[in-house]
Amino acid sequence: MNCDIRIGNGYDVHRLAPGLKLVLGGVEIPHTKGCVAHSDGDVIIHALCDALLGALALGDIGHHFPDTSAEFAGIDSKVLLRRTYVMIQERGYSLVNADITLLLQAPKIAPYVMQMRQTLAAVLDVPVDAVSVKATTTEKLGFTGREEGVEAYAAVLICKE
Ligand code: MG
Repeated sequence: MNCDIRIGNGYDVHRLAPGLKLVLGGVEIPHTKGCVAHSDGDVIIHALCDALLGALALGDIGHHFPDTSAEFAGIDSKVLLRRTYVMIQERGYSLVNADITLLLQAPKIAPYVMQMRQTLAAVLDVPVDAVSVKATTTEKLGFTGREEGVEAYAAVLICKE
């Protein structure tokens, strides 16, 4: 690959509370709890945005899309991802691949992983095999294990021809 490559990583966490929507990787997942957030609380997309921004040292998602702004109240995080990726593309870079790890105790998300990958790949206009989504429990340890929250890590490689 003859191009200028950059790497980025991102992390996000949201608190879970009963009766809220659970949206992960752009997919709404039926569950008794959802994320407490200013936006839709999609930790996968927020971690992915931070990874993309980090790859070009462009700050973080809270800087670009502040949770004090009414513009972003309840916003679909796919919009934030698209806007983040435009910043990357404006600088001549495109995504090579993204690898995401989701940490949550429940529910099982295996049935939704392909839909998440397809959703994220569509927003980023890359092949589905360029977007990996993996999930693990924390063996009932910590806040994630107690189902108080959900976490995500993302790593990205971007390239400028
Ligand atoms: Mg967040």
